[in-house]
Amino acid sequence: MTNYILQIQKALPLRTAALVSSPVSRRCLTGFESSDGLIFLAQGRAVFLTDSRYIEAARAAVSACPVEELRDAAKQLRALCKECRAKRLFVETEHTTLAEVLRLRKQLPGVWLEIRDSRVDKHLRAIRMHKTPEEADCVRRAQGIAETAFDYILGIIKPGMTEREIALELDYAMLRGGAEALSFETIAVAGENGSKPHGVPGDRLLCKGDLLTLDFGAVVDGCHSDMTRTIAIGEPGEEQRKIYGIVLEAQLTALDMLAPGVACSEIDKRARDVIENAGYGEHFRHGTGHGVGLEIHEAPNLSRRSKDVLAPGMVVTVEPGIYLPGKCGVRIEDMALIIETGYENLTHANKDLIII
Ligand code: ZN
Ligand code: ZN
Repeated sequence: MTNYILQIQKALPLRTAALVSSPVSRRCLTGFESSDGLIFLAQGRAVFLTDSRYIEAARAAVSACPVEELRDAAKQLRALCKECRAKRLFVETEHTTLAEVLRLRKQLPGVWLEIRDSRVDKHLRAIRMHKTPEEADCVRRAQGIAETAFDYILGIIKPGMTEREIALELDYAMLRGGAEALSFETIAVAGENGSKPHGVPGDRLLCKGDLLTLDFGAVVDGCHSDMTRTIAIGEPGEEQRKIYGIVLEAQLTALDMLAPGVACSEIDKRARDVIENAGYGEHFRHGTGHGVGLEIHEAPNLSRRSKDVLAPGMVVTVEPGIYLPGKCGVRIEDMALIIETGYENLTHANKDLIII
């Protein structure tokens, strides 16, 4: 396992320390899932503090740094800062609440809290963006579970079911298939509800003539998957077929560009150009994709203003869509791993318009 802790330690100036407190970052650095804990880092010193509920499991599982029981955070952090002669403490600016900052200030007199310096976030972002082969494999397994669930759901969808029933069936199939959790609340939106990119499944009954958009994912060992397919219930109308074709073309165009060194903003632009040139530009208003990993949305960002550049080990989605208010929506989303020679599409489900 790559020692991420060492990478962050190297970035810390002398007489400074860092406190990593968010569950996702703790998991990233130690590989251990817990609802409570802190990682204290300084040059030459790293410790994972977690409470009595987790201590036995953590000691057995964590090899990246020593594990100690979290009893009195204030006292322990004061002792650690003293031991390392740390006068400045970096925190995760994106995850630390104002209440925590105020508490730390009180608990650590004489230690300057670096709340404006986001170097710890930046390092964690970079670390998280590049998946190790093991992490990529977890994402691959999660995606496999989601696709098996998708195959299953295609066999049971019929007019008269509600969006909620479809979402629940998908959720159940993923969990039964080995998912430890769902990546996010499954989206199953039909007909006019499909025009809301993140609509919530409700009691609307599925009818012939509807397009149904399913956006869902599974979690394996903390790693998420994400895919979307829009399918037709009964023979689709002319406009439905047309927008499906445009979205598919945009999606394939963007996918085709995935390779190390490519600017994420350029990928977004090319997908957007296809939809704009077809006259539907105003109906595609979200970004083209995002990174996926320990969180469902993480860096890099495939959007207009993104400064990110693709590199091997990144896992990104490509998910353009067209949403016609009051009518319908189409989104097609694949998840891909960036490799030296281009990309590996982790999504294998058919993208020709499926008609049920
Ligand atoms: Zn999605
Ligand atoms: Zn997505």
